[in-house]
Amino acid sequence: MMRSGRIALITLCFSIVASLAHAQDPAAPLWSLAIHGGAGVIERAGLTPAQDAAYRAALQRALDAGSAVLARDGSALDAVQAAVQVMEDDPLFNAGRGAVFTAAGRNELDAAVMNGADLTAGAVAGLTTTRHPVAAARAVMEQSPHVMLIGPGADAFAAQAGLEQVDPAFFFTERRWQGLIKALTEAGLPLPARPADVSTPGAQAAVAPPLNERKFGTVGAVALDSRGRLAAATSTGGMTAKRWGRVGDVPIIGAGTYASNADGCAVSATGSGEYFIRFTVARDICRRTADGATVQAAADAEIADVGSIGGDGGVIVMSLTGTPAFAMNTSGMYRGAASSTAAARVAIYADEP
Ligand code: ASP
Repeated sequence: MMRSGRIALITLCFSIVASLAHAQDPAAPLWSLAIHGGAGVIERAGLTPAQDAAYRAALQRALDAGSAVLARDGSALDAVQAAVQVMEDDPLFNAGRGAVFTAAGRNELDAAVMNGADLTAGAVAGLTTTRHPVAAARAVMEQSPHVMLIGPGADAFAAQAGLEQVDPAFFFTERRWQGLIKALTEAGLPLPARPADVSTPGAQAAVAPPLNERKFGTVGAVALDSRGRLAAATSTGGMTAKRWGRVGDVPIIGAGTYASNADGCAVSATGSGEYFIRFTVARDICRRTADGATVQAAADAEIADVGSIGGDGGVIVMSLTGTPAFAMNTSGMYRGAASSTAAARVAIYADEP
């Protein structure tokens, strides 16, 4: 059977399964979305009321973008991409504009997307000129025979796919630059020259949290659409002062990002990538749900495991019935959820519902 025919058949099967599930439990949402904007040491005392409000408003905008897609019967893939792109454009988050800097003073961006309905996936690493890395990951998935592209080749592919290209200075923010200077100074490493064509110090400082924050600002989304398809997407600038072409868990399919209808789960992670890679966190959570665990139990168990070897961070997970799960071993994670049956809610601190 042709690939498009196969996909149409799989989609039809998911539609039937979704309507049967819904007939069994009419209270189950038709669609559901969960997002995150990074985990870490995020405490009430560390954010001013204005900063707290700015993050909540930014999360709400991302939820609104993804929900709008799902509410008009759009695909889970389109929804996770829409939500992630809003956060990539927001300098509050470590993804796209506002990404952290490498030790060499560059922004190198990683992203991934996965379609749970047919296990197709796309990923990019080390982008420097593509405005929306998640869109590049999607293009890799849909318009190339590959799963992962890196560096200048990945940017060239994205440009060829018609995706917006920007000057690397587009990603610069003063807050992240100062974060780099602080990290390099503390590590006794040489400071790179400040990029020439960027705004002056002080610009964009209005809602920036203080520089003593310790958090991972990666963004991600997981969704179930009205045809029963799951999808996941994640995007990041990685870790401040990363070196030697370092790539974290985000674009590694199965580590920071995974979705599988067959396993009944979609996952996006944020945290210390070096640990999340070693536990293949996202795939492992799906193995747990395939074995019968609820998404919350699977997420909690996995975060406990990755924490046992020193990994800090969190995950968002979506189930086949539209139940979202959040788990973290940090004091906070920027996050939110919305569905066809529940009003949108956003949260920051670990003790919030
Ligand atoms: N997981 C990301 C990485 O290691 C960092 C983050 O979550 O902010 O690249």
